Amino acid sequence: MLLANRTAVISGAATARGIGRATAELFAEHGARVAILDIDGDGAAAAAASLGPGHLGISCDVTNPESCRAAAAAVLDSFGHLDILINNAGITEPLKIMEITPANWQRVLDVNLAGVLHLSQAFIPHMRSRRQGSIACMSSVSAQRGGGIFGGPHYSAAKAGVLGLAKAMARELGPDGIRVNCVTPGLIQTDITGGRLTPEMKEEIRKGIPLGRLGEAIDVARIFLFLASDLSSYVTGAVIDVNGGMLIH
Ligand code: NAD
Repeated sequence: MLLANRTAVISGAATARGIGRATAELFAEHGARVAILDIDGDGAAAAAASLGPGHLGISCDVTNPESCRAAAAAVLDSFGHLDILINNAGITEPLKIMEITPANWQRVLDVNLAGVLHLSQAFIPHMRSRRQGSIACMSSVSAQRGGGIFGGPHYSAAKAGVLGLAKAMARELGPDGIRVNCVTPGLIQTDITGGRLTPEMKEEIRKGIPLGRLGEAIDVARIFLFLASDLSSYVTGAVIDVNGGMLIH
């Protein structure tokens, strides 16, 4: 039990096969009370209920600061305190550079990057007041290698922005006892690609992975568990690759 008596918020954890959901299940197994925040409020409630009693599912649009503040108030009202924030919500689109419209750019940057800022800002005052907390943020191998897997250049830019934002938060919040880290997964088998990743594309990607398989949501959930728990008590500003060796640098 690595998270006994801890409370955790995980954004983007409503989808059944998603990384957020696998993380919520693992955290609950390790004793945490979990609040699932998702733009799909019904899905969040159902996902929280599936974890057992004592967990929360709350509708929250991470692109909207007011929605984040309201969700934070509801979480703190119910849990009393928050130890862990997992900024996991994200979207992607397989566009080429000349296909990206201002609306595509805005939406992908808003959810993947501004969402990390808004939800973190909603909980930082509380974490500061307790002088403790662990924030982990979802980036991607796409940020490091310039895409070329599924998401377009706007997705790479957003996820690269997450790396800079998280490192800067780690520097600023360290003196307050708050750790901030990132994970950079390779291709993980979830539904984010909306069925647009064909078996042929998957096989082509698999050939370039030294461990010889695509990732599973639980592979990333275990790294979030490490970053959330005291196992990583002296780790902040770090970026942990979860990519089977797809990118070794
Ligand atoms: P997913 O689609 O299962 O999960 C994304 C979740 O985010 C969904 O539950 C969705 O409802 C939620 N969401 C979308 N917009 C939101 C908003 N505005 N506010 C709140 N919630 C919102 O996909 P996943 O693959 O589990 O993705 C989780 C994260 O991992 C994303 O940030 C994604 O970019 C990142 N990631 C995924 C992969 C991969 O290969 N699957 C690789 C690297 C990084």
